[in-house]
Amino acid sequence: LLPVLLHQFLYRKATPTTLPSFLLIGPSGSGKTAFLTLTERKAVAQTHTSTAPLGVEVLLPEDYMPQSSHYRSPGDPAYERSRRFLLLDTPGHGKLRHFATKQLANPANVRGIIFVLDAASVAEETGLNETAEYLHDVLLALQKRYTEATTSKGPKEIPVLIAANKMDLFTALPPHLVTQQLEKAISDVRKSRAKGLKDSGRTLGGEDEDLDEEREWLGEGGEGSFEFVQMEEVGTTVTVHGGNVIGGESADVKSWYEWIAAQL
Ligand code: GDP
Repeated sequence: LLPVLLHQFLYRKATPTTLPSFLLIGPSGSGKTAFLTLTERKAVAQTHTSTAPLGVEVLLPEDYMPQSSHYRSPGDPAYERSRRFLLLDTPGHGKLRHFATKQLANPANVRGIIFVLDAASVAEETGLNETAEYLHDVLLALQKRYTEATTSKGPKEIPVLIAANKMDLFTALPPHLVTQQLEKAISDVRKSRAKGLKDSGRTLGGEDEDLDEEREWLGEGGEGSFEFVQMEEVGTTVTVHGGNVIGGESADVKSWYEWIAAQL
């Protein structure tokens, strides 16, 4: 009995702090819950609390190999352990940004961010702009986390997967166009944000105007366009992969799981 109790105690204590986790972020309606539910079929535990977002402990499906286990054999306990991770969903729109920023500021076990978007909705201007603004803010938070870090080593890298969902819809933009359109729209967002700051700095006569502008500017300086590769300078690799959680003949989220496996 004692080993069992000990195991339970250790397991319970260890679970919240040691499991690698991934944050699901993105505009509402993009398919975050659907992806969570799909992955949850492999769930081993579930936590619902009012203060924390929905976190589900899941297993990487068997067809995928965690990066850290390439030289381990199935059946090795370490191999089984390495397939466990937490998927953190962010419910509610208002709370979501608050949560996301908090997690980004203190990403103890965050291995990556999965930004889910609706690839059909970004084919239209309203959807594209909403998505680009959101993504801009997430990337800017990651950039600040990097540039404002006080440790000499610099903070751990946090990669971002842009999961371009709903590829089963014929109106969906293919991944390379999602990338292009987002980069263009994010360029516009940062330009209009900079202008907003300048205007408010002028009316307030603020001294920190230049400093603020620099801090709030996503990616490299200059008037050129924003490209995701610029994020590598601040410890974030951005990858775009298409997929569909629902619809089509069946779900296709293979490249998303491969990306997750590569971070485990
Ligand atoms: P969330 O707000 O990001 O959690 O989005 P949901 O997971 O609730 O999904 C919003 C809507 O999109 C639901 O009606 C889903 O059934 C639908 N949906 C999710 N994934 C897909 C997909 O891959 N293809 C299609 N056609 N619809 C999807």
